[in-house]
Amino acid sequence: MGELVYLKNVVTLELDQEKCVGCGMCLVVCPHAVLVMNDGHAQIEKRDACMECGACALNCPTEAITVQAGVGCASAVINAVLGRQGDCCL
Ligand code: SF4
Ligand code: SF4
Repeated sequence: MGELVYLKNVVTLELDQEKCVGCGMCLVVCPHAVLVMNDGHAQIEKRDACMECGACALNCPTEAITVQAGVGCASAVINAVLGRQGDCCL
């Protein structure tokens, strides 16, 4: 199966490289390898592959990453599986 890519240019993921200390945690926890390390700092490599799960922001020790977790398609899929009401992209 090919790599999953979501709607283009709608991802809320932001990275402040000045706050990044290069610990690498965001690379470890990201399920879609969205981030890479470049010259000691994390960098967004595949923005449109981000599912806005929020794991990177949650595990970043310096709050260098922000993302509106739970507002995108991943949230809709999870809510649908759990039988919750709300918007769904299924
Ligand atoms: S929000 Fe999730 S998918 Fe997106 S970059 Fe962070 S860990 Fe990866
Ligand atoms: S978790 Fe935060 S500080 Fe660590 S590499 Fe990623 S962005 Fe940089």
